[in-house]
Amino acid sequence: MNGIGFVKGMLVTLRHFVNTYVDDLRYGFRKYSPDVDNFETRQGTKAEGAFTVQYPEEKLAMPERFRFVPFLVVNDYDHPEAPGKDWCTSCGICAKVCPPQCIWIVRSNDPVTGRPVPEPEAFFIDIDICMNCGFCAEFCPFDAIKMDHDYELSSYDRTTNHVFDKQKLSKEFKYWKTIAPTRAVEEMQARGGWEHKDAQKAARRGGADAGKDAKREEVRARKAEAAAPTAAPAAEAVAEAPKPAAEVKAEPAAAPAAEGARPWEESHDQREARKQAALARKAARAAKKDG
Ligand code: SF4
Ligand code: SF4
Repeated sequence: MNGIGFVKGMLVTLRHFVNTYVDDLRYGFRKYSPDVDNFETRQGTKAEGAFTVQYPEEKLAMPERFRFVPFLVVNDYDHPEAPGKDWCTSCGICAKVCPPQCIWIVRSNDPVTGRPVPEPEAFFIDIDICMNCGFCAEFCPFDAIKMDHDYELSSYDRTTNHVFDKQKLSKEFKYWKTIAPTRAVEEMQARGGWEHKDAQKAARRGGADAGKDAKREEVRARKAEAAAPTAAPAAEAVAEAPKPAAEVKAEPAAAPAAEGARPWEESHDQREARKQAALARKAARAAKKDG
């Protein structure tokens, strides 16, 4: 019958309308409290009423696959060998696949030999042109460019402020692990890179310890058996011993928990300060070694 769909739609609207007031009664003034659990409940899948997010005091949690303007991955600033080293090799693939052509890259050259060096001297993205498609991140063969979660980029400057340079685009690998923990670990495993090797080494060390414990238990059980022949056979004690190293599976490294403020709220200056502090620490270590 004509009009049934319309009536159904209006009933859904009516349900949300009524539930909005039911929510008001249920949460009272707590509705607008900064209590995170309360906020999550109201914003979650079970939320019923029509609500308004009190932005910027309240912000919706970003799903892991959310994508905004890309950023460049660099080594963590506390990396022992190469703090802040670019992962980008300036191969130029991202610039080629970018549909609106908003990426510019200048490749580095060795100042002595003049030969190309696999790192970018300059890297620019015009964030006003970027359409957040994520092609650059999909095609990068070195996992060096990722889609960011930082969507608060508006400013009054409509000229050069929106052309992000390498300094502004570069963020530590640990930042990527914080905003996309599942994908970061999947990629680490697929890549088998240094970060994954570190995790494997830690797991092997744990496995070796477990193996030693197992042997110790076995010896203890044999001694107990020799001392008391009527006691339960050693095999039972061995069965309860921890598994040997070979059976202990390597666990992927756990992603670090977000610390207090959302990581993408860290300002560029704060990141730079941390990077400079890391470089200073590295220089001090090198000086101490030489001295
Ligand atoms: S595709 Fe990756 S490695 Fe190549 S230039 Fe772009 S970001 Fe750098
Ligand atoms: S997200 Fe898309 S538009 Fe933006 S820089 Fe990457 S490829 Fe270009």
